[in-house]
Amino acid sequence: MQKKRTIIIRGNRVKNQESRTKSQDIRCLDSWLLILKSKEKMSRVNPKFATELSKYGSGDFNACFNCGNCTATCSLSTPDSSFPREMIRYTTLGLEDDIKASLKPWECYYCGECSSECPRQAEPGELMMSLRRWLTAKYDWTGLSGLMYKSLPLSIAAFVLTFVGVIAFALSVDFNLEHMMHVGHLFEAIAIASIMVVIFVPNIIRMWYFTIVKPGTKVPFKKYLSSMGEFFVTMFVQKRALDCDDNRFRWFEHFILVIGYLSLLFTTVFMDWLSTQYLAVNIFGYVMSAIVFIVTVDFVNSRMKKKKALNKHSQPSDWFFVIWLFLMGLTAFMTRLFIDLDILEANKWLYILHFTVLVQWALIIVPFGKWTHFLYRSFAMYFAKLKS
Ligand code: SF4
Ligand code: SF4
Repeated sequence: MQKKRTIIIRGNRVKNQESRTKSQDIRCLDSWLLILKSKEKMSRVNPKFATELSKYGSGDFNACFNCGNCTATCSLSTPDSSFPREMIRYTTLGLEDDIKASLKPWECYYCGECSSECPRQAEPGELMMSLRRWLTAKYDWTGLSGLMYKSLPLSIAAFVLTFVGVIAFALSVDFNLEHMMHVGHLFEAIAIASIMVVIFVPNIIRMWYFTIVKPGTKVPFKKYLSSMGEFFVTMFVQKRALDCDDNRFRWFEHFILVIGYLSLLFTTVFMDWLSTQYLAVNIFGYVMSAIVFIVTVDFVNSRMKKKKALNKHSQPSDWFFVIWLFLMGLTAFMTRLFIDLDILEANKWLYILHFTVLVQWALIIVPFGKWTHFLYRSFAMYFAKLKS
């Protein structure tokens, strides 16, 4: 006997039969959209695109038979911006330019609902995730993001090289703790400014070119200003993620992690937390670093247990991100604790460990790893608002 199921489509509970009808409607609509688009312009087809995307972690999306269940299930998909089925079609057809011009992969918050509902186990949620990885590689003018996503040995080599660099520096200053801490503090400020100017500004300009300029979208200057709120709301609150049907605890965890991480960054870089004499700043730093490592423990745990659909397929970049964020919070917390207990001088290894994690975070994960998703998603929502 066929089991009757109830699923949620854009906030409404509907019966199985109705969901099939809706899926069929969406499938027809998607097909018409594809036909209309192909009439508007001839897109370049890359037959090797599927192979290329598999290096970024996509699953067997060729199993997809276009039923449209995923789009019908996704609570973030709308008639104006329909996904993930459309992105699966683009990927299957190898419409590389259309994918590069699309902001839809960034509209997905990877709740995993679509993957759970897919009758063919085509993992549409994972496909959207791998498209985000691929897009970050395309935005990155240096090409290093793509190389690191595709090559684990290269990523490991980068981590080893930075570790060797820190040890060489420590040797060069004869393990003088005061000197190392002074340079460590300077490094944070210089690294943030340099990465912003050298990596992120050109990459954001490229993203803007691919998604707004190249497709020929005309945006009045006034709209650039009036839509800026969308960027900040996405960056700090991730408001749109609240529309996902999965539990709100995930949203809350992300929210306090973003606040904790940004506050810790501000406290260490601009308020010199590791050297401050102000009690309030000191306590604030402890609280923020504790938030970072406690929340990331839960993230690591979820990835290890693979209970949720979004944690089923972790790529090395996902592990690097959560583990290094955890280490950042923990080693910063421990370093300040050892300073307050007056035992850091006898345990210089801890500061060297913290400095190593900091350098690897700032030079590998922030500019070329998963951290960039945080930035690109905020800009994607802003650009989507400009296009609306
Ligand atoms: S990915 Fe799965 S749910 Fe989505 S259209 Fe293809 S077969 Fe259907
Ligand atoms: S993972 Fe969630 S948000 Fe992303 S496409 Fe699937 S259902 Fe939509």
